[in-house]
Amino acid sequence: MPTLEVEGVSKSFGLVPAVRGVSLVAAPGELVCLLGPSGCGKSTLLRLIAGLETPDTGSVRFDGKSLKDVAPHLRGFGLMFQDLALFPHMDVRRNVGFGLRMQGASPKEETRRVDELLALVGLDGYGSRKVDELSGGERQRVALARSLAPAPKLLMLDEPLGSLDRVLRESLQGQLRSILKAVGVTAIYVTHDKDEAFVIADTIVFMEHGSVIQKGAPEALFRTPGSELVARTLGMRNILPGILTKAEGTVEVSCAFGTLNAGEAVPPGVVLGDDVLVLIDERGVTVTPALGDAVPLESMVGTAIARGFRGGESELRIRLGGSELVCAVAQRGAGANVQPGDEVSVVIPAEAVRIIR
Ligand code: ADP
Ligand code: MG
Repeated sequence: MPTLEVEGVSKSFGLVPAVRGVSLVAAPGELVCLLGPSGCGKSTLLRLIAGLETPDTGSVRFDGKSLKDVAPHLRGFGLMFQDLALFPHMDVRRNVGFGLRMQGASPKEETRRVDELLALVGLDGYGSRKVDELSGGERQRVALARSLAPAPKLLMLDEPLGSLDRVLRESLQGQLRSILKAVGVTAIYVTHDKDEAFVIADTIVFMEHGSVIQKGAPEALFRTPGSELVARTLGMRNILPGILTKAEGTVEVSCAFGTLNAGEAVPPGVVLGDDVLVLIDERGVTVTPALGDAVPLESMVGTAIARGFRGGESELRIRLGGSELVCAVAQRGAGANVQPGDEVSVVIPAEAVRIIR
């Protein structure tokens, strides 16, 4: 049985529909990320689940029971926000123990549990530190320990790493997932950052204008984004219109780059002659200098127009057919020495091509 069941929940503020008919479930121990652009209703949905807002329609159920008449503080849920609201006048230990004291835990029980949580978040021995003497990352871990201490049935996190710089955020993402998995807590995690969602989520719920437009495991979403917005948000840049020119056996699609072999998968409902969107994986393309005879048969000839350094790989922009193709090439691969102005041979294998409606 799913732990959390949200069914057809809507909420408007005056004339602004913030959340529209959202349904989702979270199984015990599942980490669900709400992902979508700013203003798409993620925080409002979280507040509806927490009971801080009342839905106009729809229901929120937990372990099979409706939460309609259950006040927020009686739901047994934990919350962690970007502005952590740690208590500056309390030391780390008192902060982490706050929820336990509210629950009426004995001092002995509080000490035991706080020690356990500080160890879990990697802050062993930090108990007597003042919170304003901690780094941003340490504070965030105190806030996490505090929200986990009362053993919430559901933990809700709203952009918890949003105020940190990128390096720190990236190092904390992996730790956060490990900690949440170690505890086994069911969590709803709000972010607008797809890389963060990829690291944290078991399931990504993608929202736009208050509605869920796609949900699934990160790999599944990345493999088959259902719309241009999802594809773009997940970082895909080669998205162009095309027409399905062969719909059986080996699928073919015609686009500005020519006719491409698109493997064997056609999205449901798409038939011969349909307008589609063609996605080309920038890492799945092979680029080599165009050297006359050595060019493979299935390749196309284009011109490199820009090259950008991206650490372990380089990004090449190539003018090909009537459009521009972005490719990521390995620093030591065949495309390593291609410079702007060079003629290149480009192979777009079927595995790199996806079709969406
Ligand atoms: P997100 O968290 O995805 O950025 P929000 O849930 O905060 O989005 O907001 C969704 C929409 O609802 C926005 O248009 C926002 O302006 C509006 N909204 C949110 N909270 C309120 C409120 N208390 N009063 C009026 N409008 C609100
Ligand atoms: Mg928000």
